[in-house]
Amino acid sequence: MPEPLLFEMTEPGRRGFSLPGLDVPEKPAGDLIPAASLRSAPADLPELSEPEVMRHFIRLSLLNHHVDKGFYPLGSCTMKYNPKVNENTAKFSGFSQVHPLQDPEGISGILMLMGDLARSLCEISGMDAVTLQPAAGAHGEMTGIKIIRAYHERNGNPRTKIILPDSAHGTNPASAAISGYRTVQIRSNAEGLVDLEDLKKNLDEQVACLMLTNPNTLGLFESRICEISRMVHEAGALLYMDGANLNALLGIVRPGEIGFDVLHFNLHKTFSSPHGGGGPGSGPVGVRSFLRDFLPVPILVEDHSRWRFEWNLEHSIGKLQGFYGNVGVMVRAYTYIRMLGEKGLKQVSRDAILNANYLMRKLEGTFDLPHAQHHMHEFVLSGDRQKKWGIKTLDMAKRLLDFGFHAPTVYFPLIVHEAMMIEPTETESLETLDAFADVMKRIAMEAEQEPDILKQAPLTTPVSRLDEASAARDMDVCYRKRD
Ligand SMILES: *Cc1c(COP(=O)(O)O)cnc(C)c1O
Repeated sequence: MPEPLLFEMTEPGRRGFSLPGLDVPEKPAGDLIPAASLRSAPADLPELSEPEVMRHFIRLSLLNHHVDKGFYPLGSCTMKYNPKVNENTAKFSGFSQVHPLQDPEGISGILMLMGDLARSLCEISGMDAVTLQPAAGAHGEMTGIKIIRAYHERNGNPRTKIILPDSAHGTNPASAAISGYRTVQIRSNAEGLVDLEDLKKNLDEQVACLMLTNPNTLGLFESRICEISRMVHEAGALLYMDGANLNALLGIVRPGEIGFDVLHFNLHKTFSSPHGGGGPGSGPVGVRSFLRDFLPVPILVEDHSRWRFEWNLEHSIGKLQGFYGNVGVMVRAYTYIRMLGEKGLKQVSRDAILNANYLMRKLEGTFDLPHAQHHMHEFVLSGDRQKKWGIKTLDMAKRLLDFGFHAPTVYFPLIVHEAMMIEPTETESLETLDAFADVMKRIAMEAEQEPDILKQAPLTTPVSRLDEASAARDMDVCYRKRD
């Protein structure tokens, strides 16, 4: 590691703080804390000045790539720039200092924010009711499937199967399986959309729902969605939408109006909360009115313009999450939605779509583009053409880091060979898109002329290629003091 630990930088006697002198009589510590709980020697903490600590953390932050540092076109993840005003509101003491165990009577402000956020999400999605409890997209999927199961159970049979397209995100089959369903995979057709014949063959009275991402993970809108919805509902099944790609639809399409019964949002993707590295997310779930009574408790209700929690819900699937969900993410998403308003949100999606198609057209001559039609907010290239020089998509992705760009999502969706899934988002300028396209073309040229560089890349990062398998299997997180 090029950066030492704070413990290695310690300088005895150095301080990063100064406190005023004691202005009350000093009491021996033993009077306040039982002797058995007192330490006998001071804690061995690093001793450093404030600028040393500051610079240490800034240097650490620069070892990694992040969206405040540069372009981050990680498909499916919507790594848009997160406006800092969101952080300001999330820090307001009225939001950040409330305690989850506080009497709801005393926190009407945050309840109103949550109620209003849920309403906005209904308006955006065309759903009738929203729970804010789930902590991430995958958690939202599980919530949605539990609601679907409870609904079918009430009708006498929970059913046994969930249908998914072969382009589905891995969390979809995982959520189905963890909720006790068998997953049935259906094919995509040559256009990259649901194969209706294959869907028809697999629809029977044991299907609980069809789970779709729309636009799908190729960045393509399922244009026959109304027909799909009719087929699914005729079989007595429900239609679930993975809403991770909602950044393409804001103000343009309301999923509730094209046949979806249940949908999860990823507030941390579409609505601009920082994400990645396992930090807090939020995966609200919206449902049509006939499923409202199955939502997890408590739900938020408005009573004479005051919001309160309602625990009494006839068919509720129960409680799903500690307290009321990740409230800090909700404040950020609420700020974002209110700052942009209806017109602004629509512009977000229009610009996201424009940026993706612009970049796609700039790159289609250099890389294979298996689905060449107009896309929504992301597109998938293939590295197949570069294979004849012995270069894999992974090599090209690693090389991007040398030019200050994060790599796209690679090898997903699984139905495209050597996939590179690129989602520029609306927050990038024309100059950034052009610079990225130039670098991608240069890398394609290197693949042909200097493939060895690509095989060794990245050459300029603090660490080069890591062995991903042993990094996960033989984790070594122990600190050993250097001499
Ligand atoms: C990100 C994503 C998910 C899962 O969401 P998390 O918030 O990461 O749990 C599900 N489906 C798609 C298509 C996604 O992009």
